[in-house]
Amino acid sequence: MEQTIPACLYCGRNSDAIPLIAIQYRSDTQWICPQHLPILIHKPEQLVAFLPGLENVTPADHNDHDHHQ
Ligand SMILES: [Zn+2]
Repeated sequence: MEQTIPACLYCGRNSDAIPLIAIQYRSDTQWICPQHLPILIHKPEQLVAFLPGLENVTPADHNDHDHHQ
């Protein structure tokens, strides 16, 4: 079995450099750092290269109350 060192899927930094948050996706554990977690929340489509299928994930929208201009 391949043993991989947990590292942020976006920037590749491991837990020696930055705290990592484990995310479970498609029965697989992925890791992301706090700096890039907001991308997963707000711009999941930017992570499609790392997590195939994320284009179907609806971003969390903090601007629900800002639709009136
Ligand atoms: Zn990162």
